[in-house]
Amino acid sequence: MKDWRGKTADGTFAVQLQAPVLRALDRLCREARASETGGILIGRYSDELSVAIVREATPPPSDSLRGRAWFVRGVSGLGDMLGNKWRAKERTYYVGEWHFHPVAHVEPSGDDFEQMLKISHAKEYDCKEPLLLIVGTGKQDGWRSLRAFVCPAGCAPLELLPWVGAADAK
Ligand SMILES: [Zn+2]
Repeated sequence: MKDWRGKTADGTFAVQLQAPVLRALDRLCREARASETGGILIGRYSDELSVAIVREATPPPSDSLRGRAWFVRGVSGLGDMLGNKWRAKERTYYVGEWHFHPVAHVEPSGDDFEQMLKISHAKEYDCKEPLLLIVGTGKQDGWRSLRAFVCPAGCAPLELLPWVGAADAK
């Protein structure tokens, strides 16, 4: 499985989802069956700060609440986990959220974007441009249906569209 890369139409934001992240997401989505689920994305920004490199997608915290068409991510254990990542040799940190919607064609809900807006302004996340990744049950380019958005504080969310980078073109 190759990495998934996405970029906004204006080229301002880009994301790279590495293969182990896609495998972890696939497993977590299968475990959720017909319910929504989600967790946080941990990674780092590239040296020139133009690409968010996602290294991990975490399982839903134990205090998360979920139903067929809704999900409220809990916070249990996240503070300690993020502290450990920050102090590790390869420093990584919170870069956004992932959701599983148990439908083929994924659409972010108004609640999804509202939650992202809150996070973009929240001191405890220290992330002004959080990502929102929504994974579905459909098939798309040999993987699951997937949409990615960047939700910068103070402006409308922008979709990250699949992008074949220079590294793939070689
Ligand atoms: Zn959602």
